[in-house]
Amino acid sequence: MSDKIKMTTPLVEMDGDEMTRIVWKKIKDILITPFVDLKTEYYDLGLENRDATEDKVTVDSANATKKYGVAVKCATITPNAARVEEFGLKKMWKSPNGTIRSILDGTVFRAPILADGISPLVPSWEAPIVIARHAYGDIYSAVDTVIPQGSKAELVITLPDGTQTTTLIKDFSASGGIAMGMHNLDSSIESFARTCFEYALSEKLDLWFSSKDTISKKYDHRFKDIFAEMYENEYKEKFEAAGITYFYTLVDDAIARVMKSKGGFIWACKNYDGDVFSDMLATAFGSLAMMTSVLVSPHGYYEYEAAHGTIPRHYHKYLKGEKTSTNPIATIFAWTGALAKRGEMDGLNDLVDFARRTEKAVLDTVAEGKMTGDLALITSKTDVQVMDLDGFLNAVAEKL
Ligand code: NAP
Ligand code: MG
Repeated sequence: MSDKIKMTTPLVEMDGDEMTRIVWKKIKDILITPFVDLKTEYYDLGLENRDATEDKVTVDSANATKKYGVAVKCATITPNAARVEEFGLKKMWKSPNGTIRSILDGTVFRAPILADGISPLVPSWEAPIVIARHAYGDIYSAVDTVIPQGSKAELVITLPDGTQTTTLIKDFSASGGIAMGMHNLDSSIESFARTCFEYALSEKLDLWFSSKDTISKKYDHRFKDIFAEMYENEYKEKFEAAGITYFYTLVDDAIARVMKSKGGFIWACKNYDGDVFSDMLATAFGSLAMMTSVLVSPHGYYEYEAAHGTIPRHYHKYLKGEKTSTNPIATIFAWTGALAKRGEMDGLNDLVDFARRTEKAVLDTVAEGKMTGDLALITSKTDVQVMDLDGFLNAVAEKL
């Protein structure tokens, strides 16, 4: 009998494209399968197979995540016109992440990985700031229009009984201009709020939420009210029992507080705020290669991945037989995040413990000055050994 760590329920494994597909296999071969009797249900989300299956494989993988609860996903190409030509695709398939998110109805939480010697640009940040973006509505599904001088713009609502209400947006008699109509849905805001409260409980982290309700007295205020009501009715006691807090503040106040904070909380953001602030946080915490991402659904499904893409520039070097100094850390943490969650759900302490030890081995390796080129550029360490992908993975395996 093998003495490898056992699993009871399979992980949903979503393979991907280009360099990250190479990294994916090496992580499994070097860091996971030597120690774990790995059980996965495998879905090949590589672009060729998405094209061959008319993207059915993406839908199937999302449905499998509903069945089993936990998935780990490799970065995938979102095709554009150039990719359609490069791969001779039947169609410009949609973003797999978008498809999966719409099936799981989830929220994406992005969490930076902190390592000794890779210091955040903000010196007070000692712990990760996890950002949650409400990925529905607002300007991302708005209609906007250019308005000639002399026009009048109005907001017209047709009620279920057919009656209409009209609100003047602006009289454009003095100058031409622009206008926009945007929306959100109570159901979507509620599911966002619920996911944030659930994830805060699962991670035992304080939750912040920010908007601009003082200016946007109906629109943003609705977000504030939905969060507040759900907190009062369903989460206050659970939060108190877990020793965590929920905190609402204006978005500009949130920014000021974030910059002065020690970190260690979840920051829930409206769609646009999350889009912008997540890039700021990723850069301030070091590198996209040190950012993990987890899609959490309000029904309790989890899908883990790295925040970066398929790194085509490294892949082209790899195809020519050259060594690349690709950083596998975010993808390793996607695997350890998924294995730990699987272990937690199935009551497998060995598996949770293995995931945590693997993460520690990664961080200890970096702390010893062994790192890939992207980190070598930003580290405060002076005695650094720049490693290629295999070298780094083997160094981590040795510690494990
Ligand atoms: P990218 O793959 O993240 O790479 C951009 C650059 O960032 C790389 O060229 C590299 O810089 C650096 N980089 C990113 N990850 C790294 C790592 N792990 N180690 C070392 N360096 C790293 O972004 P992209 O080039 O914009 O997108 C490429 C493809 O990925 C696209 O087809 C896009 O659709 C897809 N994508 C997928 C996801 C996802 O599945 N979640 C997310 C984003 C993008 P240097 O070249 O300077 O070394
Ligand atoms: Mg952005």
